[in-house]
Amino acid sequence: MKCNCCGSDRHYIHEINQHHFTNCAQCGLMFTDRPTKDRIIDHYREVDPHETVAAAKRPFFKAALVHLSTQTRDPDRSILDVGCGFGYFLEDAAKTGWVPFGVEILEDAVTVARDRFGKKQIFHGSLQSARYPSNTFHAVTAWDVLVVVDDPFREVRECYRILKPGGTIGIRVRNVLFEKAVYTVFRTIQPVAGKMGIRHPYVFHTYCFTPISLKYLFHRAGFERVSIENSPLTKGDPYAYTPFRWLTTSAKVMVETLTSRLFSLSNGRWVLGPSLLVGQPSRDPGGRTPFRSGGGIQTSRNPARLPSPLKSGISQGPMRSTSG
Ligand SMILES: [Zn+2]
Repeated sequence: MKCNCCGSDRHYIHEINQHHFTNCAQCGLMFTDRPTKDRIIDHYREVDPHETVAAAKRPFFKAALVHLSTQTRDPDRSILDVGCGFGYFLEDAAKTGWVPFGVEILEDAVTVARDRFGKKQIFHGSLQSARYPSNTFHAVTAWDVLVVVDDPFREVRECYRILKPGGTIGIRVRNVLFEKAVYTVFRTIQPVAGKMGIRHPYVFHTYCFTPISLKYLFHRAGFERVSIENSPLTKGDPYAYTPFRWLTTSAKVMVETLTSRLFSLSNGRWVLGPSLLVGQPSRDPGGRTPFRSGGGIQTSRNPARLPSPLKSGISQGPMRSTSG
């Protein structure tokens, strides 16, 4: 079984909540059998509190758009949101001057998004089946989507193909380093926490990434300069992990402060937050890394050539956030 990010076939197995997870020994990507497409659709239609989650992500969306907007000055700039859902992010994008396009597999969400933006703007189906022409979009985003697709490499490669040369991509995924740490800690306190109605806070999706696995993935797909950093967290407790909202909020503040501090102290080597953002060094005159003030992920398409999948420095320990 080859790793989807780095191609290694060296791995070991974890058992978490009666599920087997395969962990790549080279890049740390963790993955498991994929739930069927129907199960994913059922989850997002019937379980996921999309309105509450969207409201919690609004500050993140805003920061993402501020950064994306610094990457292009084109008055007709276009953005494709993969897994656009009901169109919450695209709604904010349209307000800030982007021409919105979306791809979504959930029919109910497509209906709502098409009411907002028009049928031509929203494709019902997978990214591959949309068959967009090459070099089409100024920006492509996929927030918390790569964690549940069949083949992350195929998705990122397709994003590369449909981006204009010099275009920007924004990707947000879960960080396996954080999830494993939380899993270990929570197992020890679970008997007490369970009695208090606190649900386990770790989230192991089909794919859970490490910073280095993302770097392999994006370089193999063609992106040359990538930056990886902690994503800002969603606000509040949209998934109701605990009966005590203040507890979740306090824990998030502590986690965000600690991981941000470690990121700064290590000069970007330790990226340990719950979610990761992939991007390129900002074109802002101030030279800030993407989303530091608000959150998000992105990378830039290399207009000229595909880099080697194993560029020097990638496999030499923890990665810096903005190295090429
Ligand atoms: Zn790997």
